[in-house]
Amino acid sequence: MRSRGQTLVASLIVVAIILVCVVIFMKGTGDSKPLAKADGRGQTTLGNAKATAEDMVCKSNLSQVRDLLKVQKATDEEAKYATVAEIPGAASVSMCPVGKEPYTMDEAGNIKCPHPGHGKF
Ligand SMILES: [Zn+2]
Repeated sequence: MRSRGQTLVASLIVVAIILVCVVIFMKGTGDSKPLAKADGRGQTTLGNAKATAEDMVCKSNLSQVRDLLKVQKATDEEAKYATVAEIPGAASVSMCPVGKEPYTMDEAGNIKCPHPGHGKF
């Protein structure tokens, strides 16, 4: 009977430790500001992981759009596009997945994301 009681206490301690860990990961420790992205996303550990995944999608979109532009320039040197969405095949990847801002393109053909913190992608 005594050993059964000790097992129960040990189990409750393990459950309590797991709950503390879950609370820390879900809500943050209160000192999680350094995690936050430039646009304020990612205040908690899980939120930061989600924000990082969204940033990766934006990087991937930009990479695809730049490659599409290279292919178009290679096949048609006279091709001129005023917006990213005009590049053939780029319509589905022509905006930031985070803020839905359309990507910008300057005269030299440099494509950038206007979302805060995405300027260097
Ligand atoms: Zn972006």
